[in-house]
Amino acid sequence: MLRSQAELGNEGKKDREEVHGSFDDPEGFEMEKLTESEKQRIVSVLRERHANLPCPRCGNNNFTLLDGYFNQTIQKEFKGIVIGGPSVPSVVIVCNRCGFLSQHALGVLGLLPNEEEK
Ligand SMILES: [Zn+2]
Repeated sequence: MLRSQAELGNEGKKDREEVHGSFDDPEGFEMEKLTESEKQRIVSVLRERHANLPCPRCGNNNFTLLDGYFNQTIQKEFKGIVIGGPSVPSVVIVCNRCGFLSQHALGVLGLLPNEEEK
């Protein structure tokens, strides 16, 4: 079952902190996090789309929504990295047992803002 962090309670929060430990900047910079309503929306859309199968790697059925987005760039060349090109903004689901990451494109989920609304 996919849970948002709001639904995870204390036990889930512990899992989440383990997952996120390496994302914290030692200088004290805090990554901007998703709001509770954003998380609830993402979880409910994933449920609507039937993204509810167990982990493809270990068969576990408990996941945590990562508290932020991935925005991987599409590279035309395999040498070097182009910054600022096209990208695929996505939400990331982490298996609570083996750490497998599943990414879901926000555009497909209908969660990207329209250009007019920006
Ligand atoms: Zn797993």
